Amino acid sequence: MSSGNRWSSFFPRLKEVTLKGVHIALRMLYPPRCLVCDSLSDEAICVRCFSRLKFIKPPMCALCGKPYDELAQAAPICSDCRRIKRWFDRCRCTVRYEDVAREMIHKLKYSGERRLASEMAKLMVETLNDFSHPVDLVIPVPLHRKRLRERGFNQAWLIADVLSECINARMNSTALIRARETKPQFDLEPKERLGNVRDAFELVEPSAVTDKVVLVVDDVMTVGATLNECARALKKGKPKAVYAVAFARAVGM
Ligand SMILES: [Zn+2]
Ligand SMILES: [Zn+2]
Repeated sequence: MSSGNRWSSFFPRLKEVTLKGVHIALRMLYPPRCLVCDSLSDEAICVRCFSRLKFIKPPMCALCGKPYDELAQAAPICSDCRRIKRWFDRCRCTVRYEDVAREMIHKLKYSGERRLASEMAKLMVETLNDFSHPVDLVIPVPLHRKRLRERGFNQAWLIADVLSECINARMNSTALIRARETKPQFDLEPKERLGNVRDAFELVEPSAVTDKVVLVVDDVMTVGATLNECARALKKGKPKAVYAVAFARAVGM
């Protein structure tokens, strides 16, 4: 072996050993912690916090995924879906908006803990099994540009970005825009929520969704007015189907 060869294998090995050492030192100085409760944990969400997430399971409304009381003899379609025209073909949420899920959303939105977006997205992948067709295009619920400037990021975009990667679909965050400012849905009475987001969204690149199976993504859903209005705007581009998904769903609002 020439000395040149010996050096060329020595340096990558040295680099590897050094990087490993730095990694171990960093772990000792800053041990990994749960993103929710800050306790020491190798997982991003510790076992205790994870066990407190309430995953939404059947029985539920076949259209909007609203969870039913397990003992109730409920109709296949819930009363909200019979009352309001649904523009999405199907909607599902992963967990109930309570306890740890609520904390995850708050820490993402108001403390800017962006790593939570990817944890949410990974948990949402299985929720998509309820949709009949594979998704072609992922679209995050857009923020108004003024709100985006204030917050610096769109939490739905962060979730949609990871989710699209997990399911091998493309993401488009320019085709659908929030054309006018709206109030946060949580601050409103249930009956005001529909009017608040009515016609708030505009599909500015209709051809982007034509003949595609589109998935519109949000962090949290209350009565589904926002996702429904996004779906209404998206339908103008004649997609094959529009599905909607949110990480958490507020039940009983
Ligand atoms: Zn925890
Ligand atoms: Zn429903």
